[in-house]
Amino acid sequence: MCAAVCPVIVSRAEWGAQPPKSAIALKVPVDHVIIHHTDGATSDSKEGCSRVIRQIQKYHVETKKWDDIGYNFVVGGDGRIYEGRGWKTLGSQAKGYNSKSIGISFMGNYNKSEPSAAMLAAAKNLIDYGVLMKYISSSHEIHGHKNVKCTDCPGASLPFPYVFFFSIGIGLPNLAVKSFHRNNNSTPTMIFYAFFSLSLFVALEAACPEIVGRAQWGAKAVKPQAMAVPVSHVFIHHTVGATCNSKETCSKVARNTQNDHINNRKWADIGYSFLVGGDGRIYEGRGWKAVGAHTYGYNSKAIGISFMGNYDKVAPSAAMLNAAKNLIDCGVEKKFITANRQIHGHRDTKCTACPGAALYNIIQKWTGFKGGKLPGYKC
Ligand SMILES: [Zn+2]
Ligand SMILES: [Zn+2]
Repeated sequence: MCAAVCPVIVSRAEWGAQPPKSAIALKVPVDHVIIHHTDGATSDSKEGCSRVIRQIQKYHVETKKWDDIGYNFVVGGDGRIYEGRGWKTLGSQAKGYNSKSIGISFMGNYNKSEPSAAMLAAAKNLIDYGVLMKYISSSHEIHGHKNVKCTDCPGASLPFPYVFFFSIGIGLPNLAVKSFHRNNNSTPTMIFYAFFSLSLFVALEAACPEIVGRAQWGAKAVKPQAMAVPVSHVFIHHTVGATCNSKETCSKVARNTQNDHINNRKWADIGYSFLVGGDGRIYEGRGWKAVGAHTYGYNSKAIGISFMGNYDKVAPSAAMLNAAKNLIDCGVEKKFITANRQIHGHRDTKCTACPGAALYNIIQKWTGFKGGKLPGYKC
C-alpha cells in the first residue's frame, strides 16, 4: 500500500505500552507535522528503544500528568518508528497545534550531533506514508517545535525542520517567527541556516542514504571499467562473512572483503557496486558507474548491492533494509538506474543460496522485484 518505502512501525503492543488514560480522536488529515527530540537516552536495538520509550511514557503520565506518551510517533536510534498516540489520536506535544498536527520525536538529544541517516530516512518515510494514507494533507507544513514555542527542541543539529523553514515556516503565526528570531537573532546565523537548509533539502529530496566513500573506508585504489548507465537491473547479495555495527568496524569488513576479492578471487577490485553495513550505512564498492564482478552475465548492466553478514536464517535490520531501498531510490532519482528497474536476488541467475533465504523473502516484496530463473541462468 505504501509508495516506495514502507516505514517499519513498532506497535504499542510490541514495545509494551501501558493503555492510555483517555484518548481524544484527531481529525485527519492534519496540515502540520511538528518535529521534536526526546532530549534523553537512545539505543540502537529494538529491545533498548522499547525500554526507552516505556520510560518516556512513564514520565509523561506520572510526572507530566498527561493521559499517555505525548508524541504521535518516536523515531528510535535503531531507525525504527515507535507508535505513540498514532495517526488518529490527539497528541500532547506542541501547545496550540495538538489538534491539527502529528508530532514526531527523534529519540536522543540533537543539540550537538545529527541523527543517523537511517533515522532521518525513517521519519521522512513516515511522513510520506501519512500523506499516502491521508492522515496528513498533501500540502502539509513541517516545523520544528522551536518554531511554535521558545524551546531548543528539536536541537540545533537536527536538520529536518530547517529544511522547510524558509519555504513554508514563514506561514506560521507571529509567535513562531518571533521565537525563531529570538533563538537565532544574528544575520550570519540566519544565512548559515538558509544555506544549510538548501543543501539538505536537495539531499533529502533525492532520498539518498549516507554513502561511506572508498577513501573514507580505506579502499585500495584501482582503475575502474566504465559502465553505461542507466542500468535496468539491481542484484541483491549477502557477503556470507562478518558484519559490524559502527563506521570503524564496517570499514574494516569492507577492506577485508576487497582484499579477499583481489588476492583470492583475483578480481580487479571488490566485486560489489555497494555494500550495506550492519550500521545502516552504505559503503561504496565499485560505485554507480563501473562494471562490477558480482553477478555473472549481468555485471555490465546491473548494480550489485551486498548486505554484510549471512542472511540465510536471520533478516537484516530495518536500518539496513531501509538503507538499501533508499540507495535504489537514489539511483533511480540520479538516473543511474532506470525507473522501471528490476530487482533480483543473486539466486535468480545462478544456483546459489545468495542473498540468503531470509533476505530473499523480504526483497520479494520490494517494488520491481522479479524472481525466477533469469535468461542465462546457470548451475
Ligand atoms: Zn519538543
Ligand atoms: Zn551473491
